Amino acid sequence: MDVTKAAAATQEVSLTEYLRGNPEQGILLGILVVLVFMVAFLAWYACLGKWQKRMTVLEHERCIQLCELSNECFFQYDVKKDRLCFSGHGAQNLGYEPRIDRASSLLEQTEWDKSPEAGLIRYLTEVREDSQELQARLLKGGTRWFQITKKLVVDGRNRPVYVVGKITDIQQLMEEKELWADKAKKDGLTGLYHPNASRDLIQNYLDGRGNKGAFLIIDIDHFKGVNDRLGHLAGDQVLIGITRVLQQTFRKDDIIGRLGGDEFLVFMAGVRDRKIVEKKCRVLCRKVKEYTEQEHKEKISVSVGAACVSSGMHYDKVYKAADSALYVVKERGRDGYEIVGL
Ligand code: GH3
Ligand code: MG
Repeated sequence: MDVTKAAAATQEVSLTEYLRGNPEQGILLGILVVLVFMVAFLAWYACLGKWQKRMTVLEHERCIQLCELSNECFFQYDVKKDRLCFSGHGAQNLGYEPRIDRASSLLEQTEWDKSPEAGLIRYLTEVREDSQELQARLLKGGTRWFQITKKLVVDGRNRPVYVVGKITDIQQLMEEKELWADKAKKDGLTGLYHPNASRDLIQNYLDGRGNKGAFLIIDIDHFKGVNDRLGHLAGDQVLIGITRVLQQTFRKDDIIGRLGGDEFLVFMAGVRDRKIVEKKCRVLCRKVKEYTEQEHKEKISVSVGAACVSSGMHYDKVYKAADSALYVVKERGRDGYEIVGL
């Protein structure tokens, strides 16, 4: 044991002494050690970089997948480079290139300015924060609604560097909204306009310049008796059937509404001749009787009060005039029409 220790001490001393005796070799050894450390450090650094890069790619992929799930796409506009980039399926949905170079300067060219994507690209490259619902034209044709939110990324001197944002496809939402808005305007039984919706449409027409038309109120005669004899459900069918007769008798762009109960309204837009109104009233009275006789085995008649009107008139006045005309027909014995001019 003592012999081994003594031998090691002799060896240690001789290595130190050797280095003291050969300083160049000592320096070389030192450099070698430093080099080994440097190589090890660089290898570790490269691995770390690779790992970070992989994590970034994964993170990006994760964002894209989440976007795709939520009908969203991100965009980034590099202000200095004038470059617009879309993420994931966003560009694909829009039919655009994922990267558009010289985006805003392209808009200055007339032919590009007229292209379908010009409107959306102009909005995305405007350097400001904003949020808007926008109907964009698609390259493949047609239009689609998008909700776009834009934010600015600024540098240390508060100068905008990027415009970043989110584009959400809200086409389905808008279609549903429109459907519900339209449903809210219409009567559940007949599908005709409610009184308020009819009133707005007619007033809007009368507010226009140089317009003429005829406003008709149609009331079913002795409808209480129809309900009593045939039952309320059959009464409903009569209301639906008369709606169909009205739709077949008048033009597609005429306004047809249900005022309530057994009372309907029609606004004949663009009619300037009283004789046309007379003819329509006559045809309507005949068609209603034909239909009810055929479908419900009894002749049911209607009374019509009409007012010939023109631009600048107020709906309430027009309504009153037609209602008074209707009252005249009812008093006279029903099954007919009365037309007044205003
Ligand atoms: P008139 O000839 O004077 O018009 O007599 P009328 O019996 O038709 O009387 P009025 O127009 O005042 O009454 C309308 C009736 O329509 C009252 C109600 O019983 C009936 N009614 C109202 N809404 C509905 C409905 O949604 N379905 C059915 N089946 N009947 C309705
Ligand atoms: Mg009635």
